[in-house]
Amino acid sequence: MLDVAVAREVVLRHARPLSPRTELLGPDVLGETLAEDVTADIDSPPFDKSMMDGYAVRTSDLIAPGISLHVVDEVQAGASHTSHVGIGEAVRIFTGAPIPISADAVVKQEDTTVNGSEVVINKGLIPPGLNIMPRGQEMKAGQLVVPKGTIITPYVLGALAACGRESAKLNRLPVPRVGVLSTGNELVRACEVPKAGQIRNTNGPMLLGLVRRAGGYPFHHGIAADDDGLGAVITKALSAEILVLTGGVSVGKYDLVPEVLKSLGVEIHFHTVRMKPGKPLLFGTFRDKLVFGLPGNPVSAAVGFELFIRPAIDILCGRTPGPVEQRLPLSEPLSGKHDRPTYHPAVIGADSVRPLPWLGSADLRALLPANGYILLPPGEVKLAAGEVVNVIVCEGVC
Ligand code: AMP
Ligand code: MG
Repeated sequence: MLDVAVAREVVLRHARPLSPRTELLGPDVLGETLAEDVTADIDSPPFDKSMMDGYAVRTSDLIAPGISLHVVDEVQAGASHTSHVGIGEAVRIFTGAPIPISADAVVKQEDTTVNGSEVVINKGLIPPGLNIMPRGQEMKAGQLVVPKGTIITPYVLGALAACGRESAKLNRLPVPRVGVLSTGNELVRACEVPKAGQIRNTNGPMLLGLVRRAGGYPFHHGIAADDDGLGAVITKALSAEILVLTGGVSVGKYDLVPEVLKSLGVEIHFHTVRMKPGKPLLFGTFRDKLVFGLPGNPVSAAVGFELFIRPAIDILCGRTPGPVEQRLPLSEPLSGKHDRPTYHPAVIGADSVRPLPWLGSADLRALLPANGYILLPPGEVKLAAGEVVNVIVCEGVC
């Protein structure tokens, strides 16, 4: 049987931060940070392009103002063909269109006069390159355009699109998938009225909420019976990064979970923890997946979640593992006798902690106002109001 602190170290040792995932780019990622260097895949512009509506010309023709050129063709934006401009010729061109072969400048429409199939260029001595954006002037293929660490702004979204990217790795906190499976022959769904010997599955909905509050993405696998089918259900549920089972982890004849996990190849790292409630708590790994078996009693499951599963989710998300221990004075006396360190439900305020009346591990109702637990040492405790105790706060990230 391990102490809580030792067991927690074992869990944390096996939990690894998830790597950044590729996300679709769009306005909802504004403000997030790019987790990769993005280079241009092609030159931009991909061809020499006209910056004006006008005429593509050979500047060597324009020795003085008033030269008349023969208009041989027209090129629109989006045109794939490239026409040729010969000596004494011009091609009608529009903004964004590719520059015809042999042309070396674009004379804007406002500086010309059309005369049938001729165009008179009203200006002479045009510098080569006028109104042309050369291929690759903005960015060249292979050039680093948006470095890792850049915050996504609308301009960055545009630049990423220019690099051919509709998705990119972002430093978004990853959300680990956490499967929740409640085991027990006696369990029925909340919508059912329990028949003789049955009880409602309260752990399932509670754990799904705890997973979400801890920043994980919960998957509900429902209820599994304590029978031969358990292995198949668990195998299916092992697809998530973390699997949380409740019930059936103790030493009873129908507590099948530990053996089934072993038979599936799950390596069990510990199976009991010196704590109350929640002693029969199991932790194992299956490749890089973490598997937790929590006791069926709801308060045991809740405490086990806070002490071991919440910090594992924190690590996978790249956060510092919680919950944080604090020291606060009791607002009321608290006494009890326990054979193990005990987590007693409590309301934790800014400068004091109030212990809640509590009947033990099956008393989920006692948790309703609770936002944490008082940690009581083993043995007999008789604490007066004002005495300082250790507490853990169990609020989540959402
Ligand atoms: P177990 O851990 O299977 O020995 O169960 C311990 C106690 O918790 C038993 O009284 C079970 O009926 C109860 N229990 C087990 N699973 C659940 C659950 N999902 N919801 C509520 N109570 C449960
Ligand atoms: Mg059981």
